[in-house]
Amino acid sequence: MSTIFSQIVEGEIPARIVYEDETTVAFLDANPLAPGHTLVIPRDEYERLNDVPDDIAADLYDTVHRMVPAVEESVDADATTVAFNNGEAAGQEVLHVHCHIVPRFEGDGGGPIHAIAGDRPDLDDDDLDDIAADIESRA
Ligand code: AMP
Repeated sequence: MSTIFSQIVEGEIPARIVYEDETTVAFLDANPLAPGHTLVIPRDEYERLNDVPDDIAADLYDTVHRMVPAVEESVDADATTVAFNNGEAAGQEVLHVHCHIVPRFEGDGGGPIHAIAGDRPDLDDDDLDDIAADIESRA
């Protein structure tokens, strides 16, 4: 079964599309966290960032890069929070990769990305060295 975002790509359900090209589409979030809240997706359905092929990932970033200033200027935002909920444990509800571009305004009452985490882990230098080495070996 295709995701709701694939249905938007196929024109089967309506959306306020603000940009599209061969491989990506951007449209307004239907339940915006702020005016101008925009989603950027690959046309093809990939569940997580980890599943996106390199060339499509580059296209996706290009569209995010294009849309951030367009969105900020459009709603006269002071800043934007740009983020992916990458996986259900991170709060991803629609299993079709999407980047949130959320306009931010001075005094809007929102928090930084750091506010998403629960309790901070207690990691010493050895733990950090091990984690860094392990990630580096996989990059
Ligand atoms: P996430 O929790 O990262 O999966 O976010 C999914 C986002 O998709 C939410 O912000 C929803 O408001 C948004 N959304 C769900 N259905 C639609 C739709 N039909 N058109 C536009 N945005 C949608």
